[in-house]
Amino acid sequence: MRNRYRFIAVILVVFVGILTTVLSFAEVNERNADSDIQVQNVSVQETNESGTADTTGSAVQAETPADSQNISSGISKSSYMCFIGTSSLLSSQSGIKAFTAKCFNEAAAKAMKKAKEEKEILQPPAAEPEVETAVWPDPSKPMVALTFDDGPYGPVTNRILEKLEQYGGHATFFVVGNRVKTYASSVQRAVQAGCQIGNHTYDHKNPLTKLSTVQIQKQIHDTDVAVAYYAGSAPVIVRPVGGAVNDTVKSAVGKPIVNWSIDTLDWKSKNAASVTSKVLDHVQDGDIVLMHDLYKSTADACDTIIPELTKRGYQLVTVSELAQAKGVSMKNGEIYRYLRTQAG
Ligand code: ZN
Repeated sequence: MRNRYRFIAVILVVFVGILTTVLSFAEVNERNADSDIQVQNVSVQETNESGTADTTGSAVQAETPADSQNISSGISKSSYMCFIGTSSLLSSQSGIKAFTAKCFNEAAAKAMKKAKEEKEILQPPAAEPEVETAVWPDPSKPMVALTFDDGPYGPVTNRILEKLEQYGGHATFFVVGNRVKTYASSVQRAVQAGCQIGNHTYDHKNPLTKLSTVQIQKQIHDTDVAVAYYAGSAPVIVRPVGGAVNDTVKSAVGKPIVNWSIDTLDWKSKNAASVTSKVLDHVQDGDIVLMHDLYKSTADACDTIIPELTKRGYQLVTVSELAQAKGVSMKNGEIYRYLRTQAG
């Protein structure tokens, strides 16, 4: 009776060994052309003296062709080993179950581990964390707002813009409304360069202090329209003609009023060296510098001023950038001559 059981067990084990080996080789071929793998439960049934026992191989799922090959070859090798190993274990049939399970489990675990490692190697490296762009202007460093009135005037405005572009600086151009159409390309270039366009009345004929509220509003409005049409948006700051302000002007302009702390008198001297020293000898953090982009001498002065201020560590900013960096919230009708960090 015992020999009969042994004979049945031998037949079964040999049969299962052959079957699993054949299936595994077939599976390798099949999986080579397939990106998914599912090694389904492999059941081994064995009858021994104590009755019927089930051994179920673990199910393995992998996602890539590389994984599937590794796992398939792992399973096929294990099946072969099982087949060979059974002959030496037949004398202790109770070990068959443990041995078979061990073969499958170890092989599957090994294959999964290898596949996991290779998958990790194959994965592209994690993207570099985005480097935060430096804040500009840096509030901890000095800055100055160069401003140019009475333009635009292509031959001079463009030279100043060229120098600003070269040094990555910004400036503010308080334009006269009726000149905007003629030099629209200069206005557009200024905007492109990160510069600000301010409102300097439409025809620059009279100081605003000599006009009525309606006349003041028309001067501001018409310039807003011209700038918005050619540059994309209306100015948010005003510089009155000659900086002249009274209560009527303050209430009529409807925007913050920007005057200056350094007057280069470039219109008077028309001398580049004089303009240059007016700026470089007096400049301090938060200054607003008055110039006019009408004179060749002013453009010549800027060829020195812009590089020198940059070299000294000044950030060349627009008026609005200066206000923001200094934490100043500009109010309509208020006059600003400089913008420095508020005390307290
Ligand atoms: Zn002016």
